[in-house]
Amino acid sequence: MVKRILVTGGAGFLGSHLCDRLVRQGHDVICLDNLFTSQKSNIEHLLHERNFEFIRHDVTEPIMLEVDEIYNLACPAAPGHYQFNPIKTMKTSVLGAMNMLGLAKRVKAKIFHASTSEVYGDPDVHPQPESYRGNVNPIGPRACYDEGKRAAETLFFDYHRQNRVNIRVVRIFNTYGPRMHPYDGRVVSNFIRQAIAGEPITLYGEGTQTRSFCFVDDLLDGFVALMSAPDDLPGPVNIGNPTEFTIRELAELTVELAGSKSEIVRAKPLPVDDPLQRRPDITLARTRLGWEPKIPLREGLARTIAYFRSIDISKYRAPTPNY
Ligand code: NAD
Ligand code: UDP
Repeated sequence: MVKRILVTGGAGFLGSHLCDRLVRQGHDVICLDNLFTSQKSNIEHLLHERNFEFIRHDVTEPIMLEVDEIYNLACPAAPGHYQFNPIKTMKTSVLGAMNMLGLAKRVKAKIFHASTSEVYGDPDVHPQPESYRGNVNPIGPRACYDEGKRAAETLFFDYHRQNRVNIRVVRIFNTYGPRMHPYDGRVVSNFIRQAIAGEPITLYGEGTQTRSFCFVDDLLDGFVALMSAPDDLPGPVNIGNPTEFTIRELAELTVELAGSKSEIVRAKPLPVDDPLQRRPDITLARTRLGWEPKIPLREGLARTIAYFRSIDISKYRAPTPNY
């Protein structure tokens, strides 16, 4: 059945891939974005499609649309971007969630929310199952994002309980792939950009901190599986790749795959509240959605390096100075 689907943050890295999929499936897709951390080139190829439209709008302001489903992805995601204007980040998470939930309630739309592994903070349970309540510093530099996302989850579950809104909440773990912004300051984009340019690869701290990297195509399979799952699964559901790497291992693999001569340097101390370890427990996604990632880091990274080589990085404007 053809649905009218709203994707907030639809011009961003994940949002633009999601719009691609939904347009391909024949749905009527409305992409809403204020282009804070993205650019129109991510969706340029969709602008001429009859079942795609773009609205430049800020989710902190209400909007009235007739839709059947909403994917709420609007929010800066890279630490440098969300820390640039932390008050705005909190508003985007909280007011954005309220506006979209209000819309979902009025038009009886099913609503999906992109939450994050950051709700677990610097975790003292490893790997992290959905039942883990986290270790977040509420007053640190990452709090605008972590606590904003936690409050958004609260709103989703309260609208679900109080107003019977049909919700789906995913907790996304570090995801990478083509269309990451070259100046988002995230580790994968930084390392690839640096490796291609032959510049030093900037480790923060010793590089012993860990992350688990999921390729974007795998993540989207998980999104779609959760959205079409039975209504008794509002989430939260962890979606991510459970294979864990140290940041130094990521640096070494990037240099190898890019055929680069870049040296790996300790560029600065570990940022405040930077989680030391992160790996999803995906038992729930495996058992309830039959989902698990398929693309290993080596393959996904090679594809992402090929993408970065295919674009003209000098045409990209850094959304914030933090990269
Ligand atoms: P992104 O920065 O590429 O995309 C976010 C999009 O939201 C951008 O297009 C940006 O312009 C838009 N946006 C920001 N504030 C807005 C506002 N007030 N109104 C309208 N649009 C706004 O980042 P992404 O990696 O694609 O992340 C998408 C979502 O997934 C975010 O909610 C993020 O928190 C979540 N997430 C991503 C990851 C990851 O590893 N990529 C991990 C955890 C959670
Ligand atoms: N990092 C790094 N060098 C960089 C960028 C990031 O060593 O140039 C580290 C960062 O300190 C963190 C990890 O890589 O430990 C992942 O950072 P990212 O900003 O991608 O996302 P996070 O998982 O922290 O939200």
